[in-house]
Amino acid sequence: MIRPNEEINEKKLLRALVDGKLPDASGRFGPFGGRYVPETLMPAIERLTEGVHRLLPDESFNHKLTSQLKEWVGRPTALTHAARLSKAWGADVWFKREDLAHTGAHKINNAIGQALLAKELGATRIVAETGAGQHGVASAAACARVGLPCVVYMGELDIQRQSPNVDRMKRLGANVVSVNSGDRTLRAAIDEAIRDWVSDPVDTYYLLGSAVGPHPYPFLVRELQAVIGREARSQLETHGGLPDAVFACVGGGSNAIGLFHGFLGEENISLIGVEAGGRGDDLGDHSATLGSGRPGVLHGAYSLLLYDDHGQIQETHSVSAGLDYPGVGPEHALLKLVGRVKYVTAKDSEALDALQECCELEGILPALETAHAIAGARHWASTNQGARILIGLSGRGDKDMPILSQYPIKTNDTEGAENAAA
Ligand SMILES: *Cc1c(COP(=O)(O)O)cnc(C)c1O
Repeated sequence: MIRPNEEINEKKLLRALVDGKLPDASGRFGPFGGRYVPETLMPAIERLTEGVHRLLPDESFNHKLTSQLKEWVGRPTALTHAARLSKAWGADVWFKREDLAHTGAHKINNAIGQALLAKELGATRIVAETGAGQHGVASAAACARVGLPCVVYMGELDIQRQSPNVDRMKRLGANVVSVNSGDRTLRAAIDEAIRDWVSDPVDTYYLLGSAVGPHPYPFLVRELQAVIGREARSQLETHGGLPDAVFACVGGGSNAIGLFHGFLGEENISLIGVEAGGRGDDLGDHSATLGSGRPGVLHGAYSLLLYDDHGQIQETHSVSAGLDYPGVGPEHALLKLVGRVKYVTAKDSEALDALQECCELEGILPALETAHAIAGARHWASTNQGARILIGLSGRGDKDMPILSQYPIKTNDTEGAENAAA
């Protein structure tokens, strides 16, 4: 916890982070992170931590992971120059195309990495949680690929809202379990997945979907997503050099942390995370955890959270289901504290506008989550003309078609305006 008399040396913490020394041995990113789990889970957490530290640097494990990323995921993903968007914004805009990865988003990098890890650690079944269903689909696919049975916990409300993804998970062989406790969405699904894991921590592996949860998950997920930043950096270096600014959307924070890590040591590069500003600034109307959250414990880690004056975790809102979470990864909380990453918000309406512009000018339908990053970059470009900008295109928007159908396409001609008004 941050105690009033505890001295936080921001420069030192940032240095340690850049040098790869965080999280520390207790799983902390400065004051954030750690392990707030039931005692019964500690042996499983210890075993997992040992496995992560042994296998991630292991040559034979890396060979297996790299070949799955190449042959099955489709890495390296492309770096795309957004030429027409650049012209429209007065900037030089580049996309790192995680939307082109297998199953349509960055989540597969983490899912296949952890599925391989589970196999090496001798697990015989996988449990996972999912909100919008994207991590559930990636987990189901990865489990099929490595040959492990997969149980996906999903809130009852999310099952109703995301039925195409439920069908995809089932097709891919997963057992989707409906969670009707708590808020009946992602938060309850995570609680249920942890409960399952506690009941059989030896044979079961918990495949967590973002850079959140108890140590070693935030570290493990970051390491598995860091491939995004490494690739983007070397691709940019052969296409005219490093960017002035890097943008990514932040839900739990996995695509952002993976992209940012490639540039953390370059002080001249602005790193900007974009959270969901939703429909307004009131608690409950957005999911801007870093922007307006307070320190606390959720799902096994000490980080920033959205809760009310009674300490009740808040319901959040965002047009994009993948950003709709009241917590955020502990490493982002530290990056905010030390000032290395700036966190801004994009409202639902701004994300929808950015999505439309990206469709019309670049022929790419981004995910609604991703559209927040584009909206943040667009806003920043207006006061930083001529800047070179990298945007993490975390996923594709095909999954969002049912939601998008509620928002008429805005066009500049009068006929379109009439349609929109009708
Ligand atoms: C899940 C998801 C996100 C948000 O998750 P992070 O862990 O913050 O990356 C962002 N974009 C897409 C396309 C997603 O599916």
